[in-house]
Amino acid sequence: MKQISFILFSVLIAFSTALPVFAQEEVNVYSARKEKLIKPLLDEFTEATGIKVNLLTGKADALLKRLETEGPNTHADVLITVDAGRLDRAKKMQLLSTINSSKLNQAIPENLRDRDGQWYGLSLRSRPIMYAKGRGRVKKENLSSYEDLADPKWKGRICIRSSSNIYNQSLVASMIVANGEEKTEQWAEGLVANMARSPKGGDRDQIKAVAAGQCDIAVANTYYLGKMLKGKDKDQRRAAKRVEIFWPNQDDRGAHVNVSGAGVVAASQNRDNAVKLLEYLVSPEAQGWYARVNFEYPVHADVKPSRLLRQWGEFKADQLNLTELGENNPIAVKVMDRAGWK
Ligand code: FE
Repeated sequence: MKQISFILFSVLIAFSTALPVFAQEEVNVYSARKEKLIKPLLDEFTEATGIKVNLLTGKADALLKRLETEGPNTHADVLITVDAGRLDRAKKMQLLSTINSSKLNQAIPENLRDRDGQWYGLSLRSRPIMYAKGRGRVKKENLSSYEDLADPKWKGRICIRSSSNIYNQSLVASMIVANGEEKTEQWAEGLVANMARSPKGGDRDQIKAVAAGQCDIAVANTYYLGKMLKGKDKDQRRAAKRVEIFWPNQDDRGAHVNVSGAGVVAASQNRDNAVKLLEYLVSPEAQGWYARVNFEYPVHADVKPSRLLRQWGEFKADQLNLTELGENNPIAVKVMDRAGWK
């Protein structure tokens, strides 16, 4: 009898250790942002909530493709990616679902989130004009707006990356909203005529080309300049120091801005945890870190940008609802193509 009760007891112990009382709470993140830009925040989220985060990183468009292929069988709960144009692409592909969170709606200005609540901006970047410092190459007072970059006075002096780049597509989309399709196409033709070279490379390459004297003006996202200035590469640091930011369109709509952002995946099995994670990412503490580590601006209005970004000065940002960047993306692509923007 004693023997039997001991065996029973052992079996019970084995069962109780094999079957935890609760399943582990978790959330699965697909991120187009590199691990080092996001992982420390996810770890803090786990510490604060006990919710485990599984992170899969990849290239932005490859992640969309993967989500599409996985369909209802995906394990993903949250998609983190860059550019409102691409977030809108995810929305149009029906990969995202509507979130109803007063915390998110309060923390993030209305123009930096999707009108239908399918994605939310998490960090802000601007795409201003950058120009060669000193040596009389560019007089600051001759700069004014994106529109002015089509003026013949800049012939052969502008570097900008290709029209296949979503950042440029979004910039052009913002100009279509401001000026209409026809005027924007004429502008794009003028810009193409002013290019110092056929578009090649990324934003850093445009900045380097200005520093090297291949062109006088570039258009690039702010955080690239920040990364170059604060990075380990000596040549990039030297190049970045030769370049100055000019905030365009300060007398009218303001400089073009865009976001990195996130949404909850349509087929998510952990919706509540997914929303909790997004809410955590817009908390003031998370916002400060997230913006700082990638040299971006916080989307949360109460959080100050880093010191380097404050040095670049305050600027008026285009208040356009970023949902419109995605909506006008197909027209932007056509306009650039017709204008001969390679
Ligand atoms: Fe980028």
